[in-house]
Amino acid sequence: MEYRVRVERSKLKFAAAHMATFGGKMEPLHGHNYAVTIEVAGTLTDDAWVCDFSTLKSLGKAICDELDHKFLLQAGSSALEIDEGQTNYKVRFGDRGFVFPKSDVLALPIDNTTAERLAEYFIARLKPELLARGATNITSISVGVEEAPGQSAWAVSSL
Ligand SMILES: [Zn+2]
Repeated sequence: MEYRVRVERSKLKFAAAHMATFGGKMEPLHGHNYAVTIEVAGTLTDDAWVCDFSTLKSLGKAICDELDHKFLLQAGSSALEIDEGQTNYKVRFGDRGFVFPKSDVLALPIDNTTAERLAEYFIARLKPELLARGATNITSISVGVEEAPGQSAWAVSSL
């Protein structure tokens, strides 16, 4: 038997700005009130748990807090010219240039700030945390990142 547990909304939210690139274009700078769903699947422990809800919520909330009220910069982008200075990031796309104070930026190791990549980033952060807690019964983890109600992307990975 496989079991699943899911945590979502309440504290798994963040508000952030971004500008994703696509097909040689870049979106205008804009923001979303993101909502995150984390689901893990696996077998039951001897105590009949897949995973403690509060563990999933606190791990997810810690990541949401890092992203909250930041400009999310796709530091691995090949479409943007990114110049990291002492106090600022200079970001250029064609004839559009931006200067962001570093304090307002979260540089992420992803090539684009799509909801898909953000979901993948959550998984990359959550996996080692779950493994460090000895969650050997968990077989897979799924994360959904909702940009707007009814509009979300999911990433799924084995643990
Ligand atoms: Zn957007």
